Amino acid sequence: MTHLAVPISAAGFDEALCQIREAVAAGAAMLELRTDYLEALSPSLVAKLLAEIRSTSASRQPAVIVTCRDKNQGGARDYPEELRLDVLCAAVTAGADFIDVEYSSFARQANRKKVSEALSNNPEARLILSAHDFKGSFSDIAGLCGEIESSYPGAVPKLVYNANHINDCFEAFDLLHQGDGERIVFCMGQAGLISRIIAKKLGGFVTFASLDQASATAPGQLTIEQSRELYRYDSINSDTELYGVIGSPVGHSLSPAIHNACFEHAGMNKLYLPLLVEGGKADFEQFVNSVASRAWLDFRGLSVTIPHKQNALDYVRENGGFIEPLAQRIGAVNTLLLSEHGRIRAYNTDYAGALDAITGAMNIAKKDLKGLSVAVVGAGGVARAIVAALSDIGADITVYNRTLSKAQRLAAEFACGFDGLDGLSRLDAKLLINCTSVGMHPKPDESPVPKECIRKGMVVFDTVYNPAETLLLRQARRAGAKTIDGVSMFVNQAMTQFRLFTGRAGDAELMREIIHDSLFGQVR
Ligand code: NAP
Repeated sequence: MTHLAVPISAAGFDEALCQIREAVAAGAAMLELRTDYLEALSPSLVAKLLAEIRSTSASRQPAVIVTCRDKNQGGARDYPEELRLDVLCAAVTAGADFIDVEYSSFARQANRKKVSEALSNNPEARLILSAHDFKGSFSDIAGLCGEIESSYPGAVPKLVYNANHINDCFEAFDLLHQGDGERIVFCMGQAGLISRIIAKKLGGFVTFASLDQASATAPGQLTIEQSRELYRYDSINSDTELYGVIGSPVGHSLSPAIHNACFEHAGMNKLYLPLLVEGGKADFEQFVNSVASRAWLDFRGLSVTIPHKQNALDYVRENGGFIEPLAQRIGAVNTLLLSEHGRIRAYNTDYAGALDAITGAMNIAKKDLKGLSVAVVGAGGVARAIVAALSDIGADITVYNRTLSKAQRLAAEFACGFDGLDGLSRLDAKLLINCTSVGMHPKPDESPVPKECIRKGMVVFDTVYNPAETLLLRQARRAGAKTIDGVSMFVNQAMTQFRLFTGRAGDAELMREIIHDSLFGQVR
C-alpha cells in the first residue's frame, strides 16, 4: 500500500489549518506536517496543530507524518537540532502516526535515546529515518538503506536524492523492487519526476504531492491534482503497464494527457509518462537499456520525439530488433514497442499522420500533391517522415535547414533540392512546412521563416502543435496564406500509436478535446 502524502508547509497556525482542510477535501489520506516551515516553532504549537487535526477532520482521519527538517537537508528554517527533536518527541506524545527524523541526527547516541524514549511512550507511532542528497545520487544507497533498516526495529527508511538525469532514477527503482518491506525512495528534480509516480507501482511506502505549485516542498514535486488526474494515481498498481514519451524537452508534450485519458476511457491498466531523456545517443541507449533490462518495470511502449528519432532507429538496428520497412526507409522512428522478453519493435506514425493532416486540411486527394512545389524547413526526424511521404507521391521538394549538411544528406536520399535557411528568401513554393522546433513552447515568439517570404495563396503547415497557432501561422494568416496547425497531425500519429500500444482504437474526439482544453481555447 502506497500512501500519497500532502505536505503542509504553512508559516502559521491558521494557514496550516487552511492547508490541512484543503488537503483533506482533495482526498489526502496522509499529511506531512512540515513543522520546519512554521514561524515561532515550539513543541506546544505542533501538539496544538495535531489536536486540531484530530478534532476538525474527525470523519476522515488522515494519517500524519510530522517532520522538522534540518536546513542542511532541505529544511525551510534554521532551527537548532535540540528544538527539532523536542518538536518531534512532542508530536509522538500528541498522537502523530509517524515522525521523520534525519538518520544523520538519529545516528548520534543521545538523540537516538531521546527519540526511542518518546516512541516507547506511544507504541502506535512509527519512525521514518530519512536521508536527502540535493546534489545527486548517494555513494551507496543500498548500503545506507540496509544500515537504516537495521538501526531501529520497524523504522521506515526514506532515501531521496536529486536526479541529474532520468538515468539516475533506476537505482531508486531497484531499491524499491528489491525491498520486501516499507521503503520511501524517490528522486527530486525534473529528471526524477517519474520516480514519484512509479513509486506506487513498485510498492513505495509513501510518495508526496503538493496542494499546488506554490506549496511544493521539494524540487519536482507534483501537485495532488496532477498525480490523480493526469497520472492516474488512484489506478496504479503493481500490474500497471508503463508507456511514455522520450524527448528533450518533454514538459510541453500533451502525449501523457491524451494517452492517459484514452487508457482511462478504455478501462486499461496502463500509464503514460513524460520521459525527459537529455543528451545524445549514449544517454538514449542507456535509458532504453535500463528499461529493457528490468522486465518488472513493465514498460511496453515508447513514443520518441525531439531529438531522439534517429537515435531510436540506430538503437533498434544495433540491438537486432524489428524495424518496419517504412521507418527503415524514412530513417527515423517515433514508436517503440517492448515485449515482456525484452524484444523491441520500431515504427513511424508521423508519415501517415502528416500526410492525412495535409490532404484533410487542403481537401485534396494524396495524388493531387504530385508535382506540387513544397518547402520543408528542417531536416530532423519529422522532416524525414514528411519528405519520405511527399516524395512517394512525387511532390517537388526543397529541404531548408540550419545545418546545411543535414539538408544535403536528406535531399540526396529522397532526390530533392536543398538549401540553408537563408535560401528561404528565394522561396517559391505552394506549400511550406515547418519541421523544426522553432516557435514551440516555451519560445512561442520565434519563427524559422522570415515573414516576408510568405505570400497570399500559399499553404503553410506548422508541425509544432504547442501553441496551436505559432508565430509562423499567425504571420501566414495575416499574409493571406492558408494555414494548417500541428494538432491534426498530432492526433493522427497518436491514434496510430495507441493502436500499436493496445491493439485497439483510441478516441480521437477525446484527444482533440484534451488538446484544445490544454492549449487554452486556441483556434480549433
Ligand atoms: P529533431 O529530429 O531534433 O529535428 C529538429 C530540427 O529543428 C532540425 O532540423 C534542427 O536543425 C531544427 N532546429 C532546432 N532548433 C533550431 C533553431 N534554433 N533554428 C533553426 N533550426 C532549428 O526533432 P523532430 O523530432 O524532427 O521534431 C521537430 C518538431 O516537430 C518538434 O518541435 C515538434 O513540435 C514537431 N512535431 C510535431 C508532431 C505532430 O504530430 N504535430 C510530431 C512530432 C514532432 P539542425 O539540423 O540544424 O539542428
